Parts: sequence; C-alpha cells; structure tokens
Amino acid sequence: MSVITSTWVDRDGLLRSPLLERYGVLAGFTTRAQGSLAGSVFALEEQEQNRRALARGLGFDAVARVRQVHGNTVVRLDRALEPWPEADAMWTDRAGVLLGVAAADCVPILLVDPASGRIGAAHAGWQGTRLRVAQALVRALVGAGSRASGIVASIGPSIGPCCYTIDDARADLVRASGQGANLHERSDGGTTIDLWSANVAQLRDLGIESIEVSRICTLSGGHDLWSYRGRDSEGRYGTQLGFIGRLG
Ligand SMILES: [Zn+2]
Repeated sequence: MSVITSTWVDRDGLLRSPLLERYGVLAGFTTRAQGSLAGSVFALEEQEQNRRALARGLGFDAVARVRQVHGNTVVRLDRALEPWPEADAMWTDRAGVLLGVAAADCVPILLVDPASGRIGAAHAGWQGTRLRVAQALVRALVGAGSRASGIVASIGPSIGPCCYTIDDARADLVRASGQGANLHERSDGGTTIDLWSANVAQLRDLGIESIEVSRICTLSGGHDLWSYRGRDSEGRYGTQLGFIGRLG
C-alpha cells in the first residue's frame, strides 16, 4: 500500500477511516486489493462476489447499494434492496446494514451521527457536487432528528485538484451553482476543480464541524486505487466502494 496518508489505517487492503471508527462504526474505502466492487466493465457476477466478500469480512450479510446516476436523490435504506433504488445518497439508523457507495474518481462521502446512530453515504462527482448531494444527505439526517453540528464526516479518495481538469461548459455550471471558489485556473489555461474543498465547504455551510479528508488522488496517488481516468490500455477500470455500517 503506497497511497495512504499518515492518519489512515490500511487493514487487509482496506483504507479504514480513523475518524469515523472512533464512533462505533466500521467505515472506510476499498482498494484494488478487494477487486472491482461495482459499475465497471468487469463481470457483474465477479463484482457481486467481491461485495459479498467485503460484507462478510466485516461481519455483515450484504452491501446495501443504490443505482447511482450523478444526481442528488437520497433514500433511506434499512436493508439491502433489489433492485437497487435510484439515488446517489443513502442513510439508515439500523445496525447490521452496511451502506456501500461506488466511486472510481468521484468523491465517496461517509457520515455518522454518533448521538442517534444514523449513518449515511453519498457519491459526488462534479455533477453531484454541483447538485450538492452531500448537503441533501445531511438534510435527510437532520430531517430525521440529527443535529448537523453533531454529525461527523469523512471524504474518501477521489480524483484530486492535482489532476481534475474540466471543460468550460462544466466550469460554468459549477460557477452557476455558487461554487466557483473551488475552480482554479491552470498556468496553461485549463480549469481544475477541487471536489474535496467543495464538499468540505458544503458540509461546513450546514454546520458540520468534524470532517476528515483523505486527500488521496485516485489518478495520481498510486496503483492501489481504481481510477476511471486511469483505465488500462483496453479501457478497463474498476470501482472502489466507500462503506459504513454498525454491527448489530
Ligand atoms: Zn492527482
């Protein structure tokens, strides 16, 4: 394992969240060590087996998933549903439910409200960030009774500001969403977006005070992580899973 920063713990090839795991949950991000977990060109059956192995290795029956569409819909999932509901964020207050959000360059965001035991996970690429899916998830927890200031968040590996250049049309949409402060002009004229700072700002704006950011770039951070933009010569790539659950 070469990509982890000093605060992250690599256990059996899993990046475990040092902040969230203080609060009685199992939480972190898979790496290539677990294979591809969703949404790539690898065989669906193989990915299902990999998800089952992840869940069982952590003490759960299955991974509860959503069909991600780069939107900002939030669903409550009290068990793994088939077919997966269409959403980009999910939450539960049930023990024994392992939430899993897929990302290969997009940002996986995990939340826990230690006071109530509510947990959540969101998937935010540039579109989900523009649409503020992280805030939609926080609002769902607050709507269920959580205090925003008590929520603790972790932002996992994704494509970083070091590597993520977006075109003018996308940059304009980000500016129109009021998040232009997270765009930066490169010396050669391109525009980069910092999805980490954008999502930190969204969480802070709603009153979340405790936020961990892995600052691991999926593209330039080494070969331990899958990257959509770092796909192989045949165009194949895999997908990580951000996971969070509380054992019953
Ligand atoms: Zn990078």
